[in-house]
Amino acid sequence: MALPRRTYGPKDWLQWLSPVPNPDLVTRSGALLYMEDVTVSFDGFKAIDKLNFYVDDGELRCVIGPNGAGKSTMMDIITGKTRPDKGSVFYGQRLDLLKMSEPEIAQAGIGRKFQKPSVFETQSVFHNLELAMAGSKKVLPTLKAKLKGEDRDRISEVLEIIGLEEECWRDAGSLSHGQKQWLEIGMLLMQRPKLLLIDEPVAGMTHQEMNRTGELVTSLAGKHSVVVVEHDMDFVRSIARKVTVLHQGSVLAEGTMDQIQHDPRVVEVYLGEAAC
Ligand code: ADP
Ligand code: MG
Repeated sequence: MALPRRTYGPKDWLQWLSPVPNPDLVTRSGALLYMEDVTVSFDGFKAIDKLNFYVDDGELRCVIGPNGAGKSTMMDIITGKTRPDKGSVFYGQRLDLLKMSEPEIAQAGIGRKFQKPSVFETQSVFHNLELAMAGSKKVLPTLKAKLKGEDRDRISEVLEIIGLEEECWRDAGSLSHGQKQWLEIGMLLMQRPKLLLIDEPVAGMTHQEMNRTGELVTSLAGKHSVVVVEHDMDFVRSIARKVTVLHQGSVLAEGTMDQIQHDPRVVEVYLGEAAC
C-alpha cells in the first residue's frame, strides 16, 4: 500500500485495520468530539462558560448536573442548533462543527435523541425505521433495487439491537413508553451515526424498561460513541464508566462514578439533592 504523505502514528494504523469508515474522524489522542473553551450567553447570562469536553471514539459517557447546568445547551451546540460566542468544537480532526449546518452535522454522523419519543405513531415499527433511513440519504434511482436488500438487512439488524423484532408490524402508537424510546434509538441507528447524544432516556420508564435501556445503551458503546444525559442516578450507576458533572456551564468534575460520588464539590451541588 502506498503511504500517504502525512505521518501516521500507531493509532492511525490501528484505525485502518478496524471498520471505522474514515480514519480522519478520530484525532490522534483518540477523541471523536472535542469542545474547547466554549462559551454561550443568553441575554448576558452564561449558560455555557469556558467548557472543555472531550469524548473518545467508542466511549460511553454520562453527563449529570443540576437543572440549568447547561447539559441540553451543550448538546444544542454539538448539533448546530445553538452557536457559541466563543470556543472550538471539532468532530474528529477535520470537521469544524461551528462551520456546519444542522443537517450537515447530522449527515456527518452525529445523532441526537430528545427526551420525548417522537415516533410516527400510525406507522409500523418497520416503517418507522424505513422512514428514518430514507430521511438520511439520497438514494440514486439506479441503485435503489440493490440498496433495498441492504436496507432490509439493516432494518433487521437494528430491530435485533433494540429488541423489537416481535413488534415489527405493530403500529408504533401501540408500543409501551419504553419500546417507543428504543424505537427512536433504532431510528437514529438507521442513519449509522458515529456519535449518539441521548437526553434522559429512562424518564418515565418502569424498572424493567430501565434495565433493558441500560443493556441497549452499553451495547452501543464501542461501535458508537454515546453521550447520555440522565438524572436517574441508579441508571447512571448501572451504565457509567466515566461521568462528567456539569455545573454553571462548565465541568465541575469528571471521573468514574466512584470518584464522582466521593467528590465533596459534586455532593454539595448535585448528589446531595439527587441521591436522596
Ligand atoms: P440543563 O439541560 O442542564 O438543565 P440548559 O442547557 O437547558 O440546562 O440551560 C442552561 C441555562 O441556560 C438555563 O439557565 C436556561 O434557562 C438557559 N437557557 C437555555 N436555553 C436558552 C435560550 N434559548 N434562551 C435563554 N436562556 C436559555
Ligand atoms: Mg436539559
